[in-house]
Amino acid sequence: MTTGKMLIDGEWVDASNGATYTVPNPATEEPVGRAPDATADDMRRAIGAARRAFDDGPWPRSSRDERARALLRIADAMERRKEDMRQLLIAEAGATWVTHPMQVDSPIEHLRHWADIVRSYQFEEMLPARASQGPLGPQMNCGVVYRQPVGVCAMIPTWNFPVYVTVQKLGPGLATGCTMVFKPSPWGPLINLFIAELVAEADLPPGVVNFVTGQGNDIAEALVSDPRVDKVSFTGSVATGRKIIQASASNLKRVFLELGGKSVGIYLDSDGIEMNAMVASGPAMFHAGQGCAMATRVLVQKDVHDRFVENMVGFVQNMVKVGDPADPATMLGPVIREERRQKIEEYIGAGKAEGATLATGGGRPKDLQRGYFLEPTIFCNVRNDIRIAREEIFGPVVSVIPFADDEEAIRIANDSTYGLGGAIYARDTTRAVEMAKRIRTGVVWINNGINMFDGPFGGFKESGIGREGGRWSMEEYTEVQQITWRA
Ligand code: NAD
Repeated sequence: MTTGKMLIDGEWVDASNGATYTVPNPATEEPVGRAPDATADDMRRAIGAARRAFDDGPWPRSSRDERARALLRIADAMERRKEDMRQLLIAEAGATWVTHPMQVDSPIEHLRHWADIVRSYQFEEMLPARASQGPLGPQMNCGVVYRQPVGVCAMIPTWNFPVYVTVQKLGPGLATGCTMVFKPSPWGPLINLFIAELVAEADLPPGVVNFVTGQGNDIAEALVSDPRVDKVSFTGSVATGRKIIQASASNLKRVFLELGGKSVGIYLDSDGIEMNAMVASGPAMFHAGQGCAMATRVLVQKDVHDRFVENMVGFVQNMVKVGDPADPATMLGPVIREERRQKIEEYIGAGKAEGATLATGGGRPKDLQRGYFLEPTIFCNVRNDIRIAREEIFGPVVSVIPFADDEEAIRIANDSTYGLGGAIYARDTTRAVEMAKRIRTGVVWINNGINMFDGPFGGFKESGIGREGGRWSMEEYTEVQQITWRA
């Protein structure tokens, strides 16, 4: 499905020492393929190529039209090879079909949208002319605010929605005229090398986009500490985000961080329980709970808590098929690796030990001997101060927390070191909007769970720094410059 080569300076290459590593299918534990296991020297070569492409190449000065055409060529290539991409996402990421609108279709739409944005974006904005007293007498001054590409970008996407996350960096990176080195997650190299092949169809100058894969963190560290890099764009955990800030300090790199979350879903009404309970069970099955903004803390009114939980349990036990992600009927696939499964099981143990009630799940499905599967798991009567309510589990585990009134729901929602997403379900949208304004998270979905294409996405508090989406990404990947002249 992919050549399995890295893209450095416009050439398809292996790791310089010839090393590769096996990438397993999380549903079968069988190999999907092998990826180059690059060295820090390979990484430095890619950074050098991106630096030259930025300093001496034509791309940073390319026209809007050239950028838009490149983005459309990549989108078209992705469309043509959509079925290959789908199969690779199933095999490498364990992506069930219910996730494909976001895993497969949405990135193509986004690339096309970046092409639209670059055609109309205001890279130059005139300032109002202003008279002043100069050394030689009165003078008129004109000025423009110009947005230059930020420079060489270290792009470190994660593995959960690998095409989506990579495209969220690639699209605005190209639209703004940056050059870049992608260092995909060690758990998602093949799909990124596949994207590299599609990028090559855009005929970009050598070095504009480079992809370097490897299983060690040494190549990531070499990338984020290199003074030739101007910006780091990272999607991953808070712990790694902190290390990146430290490594970036040497030359004050710009840093964009999309990190984890412990989002709430607040259910304000005491009726409509059947439908709401199904929605609230989402993180216990959708991509095995491996999503940054999933509402893994479910807040329900105290007096309907038990009925709500009964409905959730009924739904996951009777409706959620667990198993092979290649089967379109499957709703819950595997988690990405055995080490992740064990970590999730540790959280399940902590939930029980700290007094939460296990309503369903908590174990491994008996009929699935291979693959990193877990049962959909729901805890109820959870207190917000225990580990399963405070830490990001990143597995198919949901905690139901009762609340007495709106004020308590807001207090629980905000009682978190994270601040990424949140959802409110209510018939009274005015009440919900007023509540949303008091929730300290980067996004609040009311009755929909949908991100607007041009809306900003990102975190308050430890969920990140910066915003992506539409013009917000354009701002992340540009530096603002003031140019003034005497009229
Ligand atoms: P992670 O923090 O384990 O990141 C691993 C990546 O960081 C790898 O590519 C690794 O090589 C690299 N890395 C390791 N040490 C490094 C260092 N010192 N400097 C630079 N890079 C280093 O996270 P993960 O498991 O890949 O992703 C899961 C996390 O991603 C979850 O917390 C999830 O919430 C978050 N996430 C956030 C968003 C968002 O948009 N906010 C989207 C998806 C996932």
